[in-house]
Amino acid sequence: MSTGEDPVMPSDHQPPGPGPSADRPGTPPRREGTLIVGASQAGLQLAVALRQAGDTSPVLLVGEEPYAPYQRPPLSKEYLSGALEPSALAFRSPAFYAEQGIGLLTGERVTSVDLSADGGTARTASGRALGFARLALTVGAAPRRLDVPGAGLDGVLTLRDRDDAERLRERLATARRVVIVGGGFIGLETAAAARARDKDVTVVEAGPRLMGRAVAPAVSAAYRAAHERRGTRVLLSAAVTGLRAGA
Ligand SMILES: Cc1cc2nc3c(=O)[nH]c(=O)nc-3n(C[C@H](O)[C@H](O)[C@H](O)COP(=O)(O)OP(=O)(O)OC[C@H]3O[C@@H](n4cnc5c(N)ncnc54)[C@H](O)[C@@H]3O)c2cc1C
Repeated sequence: MSTGEDPVMPSDHQPPGPGPSADRPGTPPRREGTLIVGASQAGLQLAVALRQAGDTSPVLLVGEEPYAPYQRPPLSKEYLSGALEPSALAFRSPAFYAEQGIGLLTGERVTSVDLSADGGTARTASGRALGFARLALTVGAAPRRLDVPGAGLDGVLTLRDRDDAERLRERLATARRVVIVGGGFIGLETAAAARARDKDVTVVEAGPRLMGRAVAPAVSAAYRAAHERRGTRVLLSAAVTGLRAGA
């Protein structure tokens, strides 16, 4: 979903000058500059760092999402609760990319890479060939899907990107009961957002305490108490083995 104000760059936005660029019919792509696969926080930071270090060679960020690099942290906080506009998620304005000579190709998934002594060529799902002298993979992470019966049911959602957050926000508008699988930071933030909308919320955590991989036991206990005080049910040492439609 996009609006006129979105930080979406045109998908054919190209870096100035030669270098990592879409193929020109009949000619092999030039192997120059840096191609960064994954147009999010790490990829953008790398592009900016190259410019700050005085690298004037072409830099192209290519990402499969249809958006210019944006911040994910608000997706489970202000954006989920509807307090933030899409345009506020962007790391940088469209003008920044042009000023810095950082090319941005959105909505393109890189599906293969061929390496050679002088660089290589990456190919995208839509058939573009992108030449490079240097390649950086900043492809991030993806949510682990549950490998249990019912994991594909309607209403089972994950939260990683902006589209996920928009789907979740839409479903939250009409949901009465919300079950969150995973009592880590993102799960608990989502629980808080759902409770703020007065939903019946249960957090199911496989480990013996909340945020067990990130914080000390005393902090886990304090968070559990805080969420329970706000009306969230917390189930610990409870691995989900299946999901069923209906109540
Ligand atoms: C809901 C949520 C809340 C968060 N809250 C916080 C917080 O409060 N504090 C905090 O410190 N961190 C938070 N994080 C974590 C933080 O957002 C991540 O650490 C950060 O996004 C990592 O950036 P990245 O660029 O390494 O990877 P990602 O942001 O995962 O970006 C990788 C990008 O690569 C793209 N990609 C993958 N494969 C390909 C391919 N083959 N071709 C083209 N593109 C590809 C993906 O589509 C994606 O856009 C949160 C994350 C989420 C999801």
